[in-house]
Amino acid sequence: MCQICNGTRKVHEINSFGYRTSCCPECGPMETELWLEQQKARKDWIAEMRKKGGSTYGKSRSVAAKS
Ligand SMILES: [Zn+2]
Repeated sequence: MCQICNGTRKVHEINSFGYRTSCCPECGPMETELWLEQQKARKDWIAEMRKKGGSTYGKSRSVAAKS
């Protein structure tokens, strides 16, 4: 696996404009198809988490509001 991006093909860098993400110089830009696949997987994961009773963030907030 790539040591720079850990296989994500994305590297994080901080410049004068702030924090940004760019392509890994070693692996090059991610193929659009693969990227879309990952976006879909992420969406599915979020939907799955919501089905299981919402995000932990929302839960901890509602608990804090009650007490
Ligand atoms: Zn890489």
